[in-house]
Amino acid sequence: MSVFILGTVAEPVEAFIAWLSQKSADPALAKQVASFHAKWGKEYGVRWDFAIFQSCLETGWFTFKGDVKKAQNNFAGIGATGNGEPGESFPTVEAGCKAQIQHLATYAGQAIADAELVAKHTKSVKNWISGKAKTWEELAGKWAADGSYWRKISAIATEFSQWHESYPQPKPTLAGKRIAIDVGHGSYKDNLGTGWEPGAVKPPIREWDLNTIAAKECAEKLRSLGAAVDIFQYDPGSPQLTLSEKGARSNGHDVFVSIHHNSVDNPNAQHSLTLIHTNGTVEDSKLAQSIEKQLVAVCKVGDGGVRKQELGVLSTVPSSVKACCLTEGFFITGRLPEPPDQLAKAEGGAIAQGIADYLVQG
Ligand SMILES: [Zn+2]
Repeated sequence: MSVFILGTVAEPVEAFIAWLSQKSADPALAKQVASFHAKWGKEYGVRWDFAIFQSCLETGWFTFKGDVKKAQNNFAGIGATGNGEPGESFPTVEAGCKAQIQHLATYAGQAIADAELVAKHTKSVKNWISGKAKTWEELAGKWAADGSYWRKISAIATEFSQWHESYPQPKPTLAGKRIAIDVGHGSYKDNLGTGWEPGAVKPPIREWDLNTIAAKECAEKLRSLGAAVDIFQYDPGSPQLTLSEKGARSNGHDVFVSIHHNSVDNPNAQHSLTLIHTNGTVEDSKLAQSIEKQLVAVCKVGDGGVRKQELGVLSTVPSSVKACCLTEGFFITGRLPEPPDQLAKAEGGAIAQGIADYLVQG
């Protein structure tokens, strides 16, 4: 493989920064160096990705154990000729990076005016080095006496690409999305009056407590992805809403999800279930499938699928809301793989993931 010194880089600098934050001895400095290499590399048309790899090699992954010290801001040994010769010093990290990029550009044959050149060394040797290396390989024996200079830089490049393949892709962003989460039960208001009820109860477990835990976790995760989240009725003091008031409040949201837990007089019954209204739409079904998939994977209590049911709370959700559904993460009356409150927390994260997948993938 031969790599030209001049060229462009497809990867965002953030990928290199993430890598260096794990690999380098001085992540804060490495981050600055990577950013300035990218900035000046783009300016002079130099492969700044390889300039970063070169700096990793030259500084010993930013440990500065060689002749050049950290305070010199010289990240490629410019002017350091060995035998303790420290080479040039630059006033700032950025000046050092710019000098390195300019020195590389000069090797590749670019003519840069003396007044623009940062390094004295580049000025003094430019007539000798100009155009003497078109590829990184050709720098061996020139930039550094080391005949395996290129092999070492190329090994670092390989290390980066291997890391990058396993590098987790950025999370989906939900910026601009509005999500309404309804905590099932708790405060209520209906034509018989106002009050508070816990939903299903199997002492000491109350459905409302688990709905609350799951809803809070779900909201937190969605907010961390950039969404705006409204939670309806998550404590006894929050405003009591009729079903139609919940529906009205959900207007303007992309998604409405009501969080519940199941109960039945049979300790053997156990599964995750997601419900849509009997006249639910295709979008409701897609959202429900996306959430159910995550519930099954996280709660590990079985797959009850997506079902249609006459559900008052969903019947009032306006059609401006893209999709709505109701979750029954698990049966509080059945056997569980872990304590119900812990499971409800994990379940809240699963619901958030299902909502995020639906909103990102459609
Ligand atoms: Zn319920």
